[in-house]
Amino acid sequence: MALMTGQEYIESLRKLKTRVYMFGELVENWVDHPIIRPSINSICMTYDLAQDPQYEDLMTATSIFTGEKINRFNHLHQSTDDLVKKVKMQRLLGQKTASCFQRCVGMDSFNAVFSTTYEIDEAHGTNYHENFRKFLQFVQDNDLVVDGAMTDPKGDRGVAPHAQKDPDMFVHVVEQRKDGIVVRGAKVHQTGSINSHWHLMMPTQAMREDDKDYAVSFACPSDAEGVYMVYGRQSCDTRKMEEGCIDVGNPKFGGQEALVVLDNVFIPNEYIFMNGEYEFSGMMVERFAGYHRQSYGGCKVGVGDVLIGAAALAAEYNGVEKASHIKDKLIEMTHLNETLFSCGIACSCEGCPTKAGNYQINLLLANVCKQNVTRFPYEIVRLAEDIAGGLMVTMPADSDFKSATVAGRNGETIGEICNKYFAAHEVATEDRQKIMRFLENICLGAAAVGYRTESMHGAGSPQAQRIMISRQGNIQGKKQLAKDIIGIE
Ligand code: SF4
Ligand code: FE
Repeated sequence: MALMTGQEYIESLRKLKTRVYMFGELVENWVDHPIIRPSINSICMTYDLAQDPQYEDLMTATSIFTGEKINRFNHLHQSTDDLVKKVKMQRLLGQKTASCFQRCVGMDSFNAVFSTTYEIDEAHGTNYHENFRKFLQFVQDNDLVVDGAMTDPKGDRGVAPHAQKDPDMFVHVVEQRKDGIVVRGAKVHQTGSINSHWHLMMPTQAMREDDKDYAVSFACPSDAEGVYMVYGRQSCDTRKMEEGCIDVGNPKFGGQEALVVLDNVFIPNEYIFMNGEYEFSGMMVERFAGYHRQSYGGCKVGVGDVLIGAAALAAEYNGVEKASHIKDKLIEMTHLNETLFSCGIACSCEGCPTKAGNYQINLLLANVCKQNVTRFPYEIVRLAEDIAGGLMVTMPADSDFKSATVAGRNGETIGEICNKYFAAHEVATEDRQKIMRFLENICLGAAAVGYRTESMHGAGSPQAQRIMISRQGNIQGKKQLAKDIIGIE
């Protein structure tokens, strides 16, 4: 099958029997639900841009299995050039959606599982790599979205998976059968999980022998028997229920996270990519995390571009765009944003081939990239709020601006009063309203999930990167450099 269009992608979701719960209820038509739909629209953009000749080079690649044109989100990176294009594609999508477009978790898991299964087979004589190649070719052929799922609930953080009071705190195998395995547990914070056709599950951390049952990786359809999801709440999410309301901030796009529950799900042998080879779970985690830490040097930068633009517009609408301190703040925001991009590009350029043949990023630089992402977007948001002014959080509702209720002595309506007092520099008050709400959306509304808190915790919390930086930073080698120069034996 050729590449799907965005519309075909939406129609393909309707065919699934995915079980989604929100506000304590089963959502019947989740594809058209106003709270969910913006996140579907964001993934749609990954399909629509792939159809646009202008973006073909970034958005598409050639399948290593079939030689066919595929969406880059389903590609195995074949060179450092591919790694660079991945980051540029993510920046582009951030620019087009100002939100998390979700499809990267699949791409990052494909590349991590592809290389890790190769090395497991090498050590154990298993058949996981072949299983995975077949699965990925199926994904490519059908242009599917896959949720790369890593994070387990983890329960008591001080206790190993097998020693948890509740054994389901980490996804684990509850039954080994001849034809497959039965798994139970859950994955939390799952980006784009509801909008995905399939899930690719990986262990959440390095495992020891006692945790053998927890060292498991497999694929299953979103609507497999025993799978269901509970939608994650976002700040101001119910504003999306107010149709055509400016207060939504970003009227078209959004991100999505959910709790994915695996309630005794049967996985046939052909979809198993690790089953007890605990010494490889750390490798899979490290690689997936590394790719996703690279990803943030693209997606967050794209959203940052839009945020910088919105802040500049707010300054213009307020009539202060010529003030030198405003110009300087925009320079600072740009400097921080481009520094993140530089990290994303650097860890890609310094990538190298894995044993399986696909390319991996430079892990040290990818972790440095993500460590900066845990900081710079916060400073960029601080500057955007500084430029925007307090109005982004104190402005009356859109319904006030449109209200015909008479309040003034001379018959002025609430709508007229709002439009009078919130007028500014030669722009329609409505445009000022739009830009303020858009800024609110990215800085502390629904999209702040993707731009702020996800910048902190997505792809691993800051401490996880610091551990990797300490492992990869080669302090011994650096000590030797000093010794060599000053002549210490
Ligand atoms: Fe992609 Fe960024 Fe969302 Fe991760 S946070 S899925 S890298 S857009
Ligand atoms: Fe993420």
